[in-house]
Amino acid sequence: MRRDLRLDDHHALAEATAQCDRVAVVFVFDTKILSRREDRDDRRMTFIVESLREMDTVLRQCGSQLIVLHGDPVEEIPQLARQIHANAVFANQDFEQYAVRRDNEVRKVLAGFGVQFHSYKDQVVFDSSEVRTENGAPFRVYSPFARQWRKLLHPASISERKVESSSFWAKEPWMDDFVLPSYESLGFIKNDLWLDPGTSGAKTRLDWFVDRLDDYAENRDRLDIDGTSGLSVHLRHGTISIRECVRASLRQEGKGADKWLSELIWREFYQSILVAYPDVETTTFRPEFANLPWENREDLFEAWKQGRTGYPIVDAAMRCLNATGWMHNRLRMVVASFLTKDLLIDYRWGEAYFARYLLDFDLASNNGGWQWAASTGCDPQPYFRIFNPILQGLKFDPKGDFVRRWVPELSTRPDDKIHEPLAGDLFESEFDYPGPIVDHQIQRTRAVDMFAQAKL
Ligand SMILES: Cc1cc2nc3c(=O)[nH]c(=O)nc-3n(C[C@H](O)[C@H](O)[C@H](O)COP(=O)(O)OP(=O)(O)OC[C@H]3O[C@@H](n4cnc5c(N)ncnc54)[C@H](O)[C@@H]3O)c2cc1C
Repeated sequence: MRRDLRLDDHHALAEATAQCDRVAVVFVFDTKILSRREDRDDRRMTFIVESLREMDTVLRQCGSQLIVLHGDPVEEIPQLARQIHANAVFANQDFEQYAVRRDNEVRKVLAGFGVQFHSYKDQVVFDSSEVRTENGAPFRVYSPFARQWRKLLHPASISERKVESSSFWAKEPWMDDFVLPSYESLGFIKNDLWLDPGTSGAKTRLDWFVDRLDDYAENRDRLDIDGTSGLSVHLRHGTISIRECVRASLRQEGKGADKWLSELIWREFYQSILVAYPDVETTTFRPEFANLPWENREDLFEAWKQGRTGYPIVDAAMRCLNATGWMHNRLRMVVASFLTKDLLIDYRWGEAYFARYLLDFDLASNNGGWQWAASTGCDPQPYFRIFNPILQGLKFDPKGDFVRRWVPELSTRPDDKIHEPLAGDLFESEFDYPGPIVDHQIQRTRAVDMFAQAKL
């Protein structure tokens, strides 16, 4: 188990339990990944540990147990395979470069002593090699990708991958050496989460959302309405399968369900871009924007991170991210546009900050979202895609509820003024809130010039 923390509709587990008499379900706390985490306070760890705890409980109800290892998977998996005389290891594919390299190494070591390594597509409905242009090339633009994706869709592509729980390895004494470790021994603290982890959390959330699916198209951009599924964290960690989400969207016809499906396809589009163009991990998708003269001022970056730019919607969004690990899609676009087009800071700084704090952090979607907003990615639109933070606030948070919640300093401002930056020193001291750190109109022109120069 890696980013597929569930025991149902699970491709690799379905194959393992169909092909084998005894299946041990194994998770490795990968020390190479954990050592990159900057501090002990990382909400994703809580989400993962609690999701594993739920899996362990279910496995124990089936007479088995979750096997948890801690170390380098390239050593840990083969070592366990030897110890328990496994014939084969089954896993779902992961498309990130680190994961591909890791799996290739595991495969090699296992092959050295005759153990097979089988991997399956599970994270997406269609992978990059399946959704191709007529000439067999990967798509570079979302709309034709989505059309082709929909053409390929067939009931078999999203059917449930059924797991035979009768094949789970019955509890044996050796399993006691591999129980779920405490937070302390992992070197992390337990956090409060705004959502329920595990498959049960995902299912409850999906049921809740299905009742609201009809209104999704109208409400998805509103900041004062809970109008989106909130399932990205579950999709990221695999506590729900993408097939189950697509099935739910198809069961309910209508504009809302169709729009939701198109968002799920965005996720697959960015996964496909990451596989077909792996260089996007470090450089711009469009080579002409690889060397944009970003100004990269540390003081402005600091203000953006802390939610003290003086633009209320930007600050509310960043404070929400810092406090919860969550940010609404509309706000991700607003703050990313602000960082790159208003503060003229390299999108990679913001991308890395999101990677550190988002509970649903996913390399492909995060990189895709940042390059989209920075206009360095597929379909760049540098001259039009510059969000006005005041207008965005007025449109999507019309009464200022969202700003009042996260920027209480401004709570007494009237609804029609709450999205405007404060003017002058007097206001600043009155509200204990900074004036605008840049002028949007001036910076907008400078951003357009920066892109125009790069294209020359
Ligand atoms: C700068 C930026 C960074 C982002 N970083 C991430 C990230 O690290 N991880 C992540 O999962 N999403 C990311 N997104 C996409 C999007 O913001 C989130 O997927 C969405 O906000 C999750 O909320 P939801 O589950 O309620 O979405 P819903 O509106 O309910 O959509 C359903 C699902 O579709 C997928 N989805 C929706 N919109 C997008 C999108 N634009 N791109 C890719 N997939 C999408 C998600 O899996 C989501 O759970 C980013 C967007 C931007 C602009």
